[in-house]
Amino acid sequence: MEITAAIVKEKGSSFELAKVKLDEPKADEVLVKIVACGICHTDMVARDFIMGAPNFPVILGHEGSGIVEKVGEDVHHIKAGDHVVLTYGYCGECEICRSGTPPYCYEFFQRNFSGERVDHTHSHHYPDGTAINDNFFSQSSFATYSIAHKNNVIVVPKDAPLELLGPLGCGIQTGAGAVINSLKLKIGSTIAISGTGAVGLAALMAAKAASATTIIAIDINEERLAFAKELGATHTINSTKEEVSKRILEILPHGVQFGIDTTGRNEVINNTLASMAPVGEMVAIGVARKPLELETNIFLTKGYKIRFINQGDSVPQEFIPKLIRMYQNGQFPFDKLIKKYAFENINQAVEDSETGKTIKSVLTIGNYKN
Ligand SMILES: [Zn+2]
Ligand SMILES: [Zn+2]
Repeated sequence: MEITAAIVKEKGSSFELAKVKLDEPKADEVLVKIVACGICHTDMVARDFIMGAPNFPVILGHEGSGIVEKVGEDVHHIKAGDHVVLTYGYCGECEICRSGTPPYCYEFFQRNFSGERVDHTHSHHYPDGTAINDNFFSQSSFATYSIAHKNNVIVVPKDAPLELLGPLGCGIQTGAGAVINSLKLKIGSTIAISGTGAVGLAALMAAKAASATTIIAIDINEERLAFAKELGATHTINSTKEEVSKRILEILPHGVQFGIDTTGRNEVINNTLASMAPVGEMVAIGVARKPLELETNIFLTKGYKIRFINQGDSVPQEFIPKLIRMYQNGQFPFDKLIKKYAFENINQAVEDSETGKTIKSVLTIGNYKN
């Protein structure tokens, strides 16, 4: 069929809408009419070819939500008309997936970043038949239609606002999952969150929902810090104005129990480590642009743990519906992070995400008329 997709033609270039041909879904695939798609930092990382990204030209987009149009003959738990959120790809069959940790699937790279299916085919072609790199996060959802694998299509309730749900498939589940699945925050915990982008703020809302009693948000942007306070931060620190570890130790003299880093920056991670309580635990989520150097001697005497995690350690079939129920109960108002853009304004939406003007841009692709 003919669809419209946003294509990045070469490293670092802007997105161009173009008509392309999309194949029929294979036996284990699902064809989804995309209603909306969030823009995530990883789309930019792939556009700039920073971390094992697919080649060019490529169709990115990995926070799609939409309505199932058709399913392949081996798909039994999803049917046409279902409302769905698309998430990351995983095989579902390897020992890692079957141990309940699909974000670390042996085939994670192949199914999310290789630019093709695991059988090395493409589902997108130019009208002249030339293949386009696709299957980004097993979806390539900056497009009017997407082909996803049955494993990464999550059926969601029809009374939830489908247009807003796409970011639950990556950025929002990453932040919230870090708190709920990875750190397993308990009532009365203390936590410091570095970086108040969509991932950091999702973590913050999850920490509030988990009844943490001290939630410290750290950033360099005053406006974001004020917003973090509105969302439930008990303290905020502007790291350009205050010494982070000194300030945390004023708030919590024995240090903070948990830390989350969404920045991938050396000094920020070390600041968190220097402010942690004994046997404290932190997780790092941010894509680092430089190798990390850690002051490891403090780990020896303090019993610290640091883990580098993917997708908030979440099993999406279990976690995404849970986040939707929390949203519907008013416990997880992630819609406050979202600003909508028309599909044709994708480059503006990307720019506003990169400058920090918008926390989470969502393209309302379902309204696109070609
Ligand atoms: Zn696997
Ligand atoms: Zn993402």
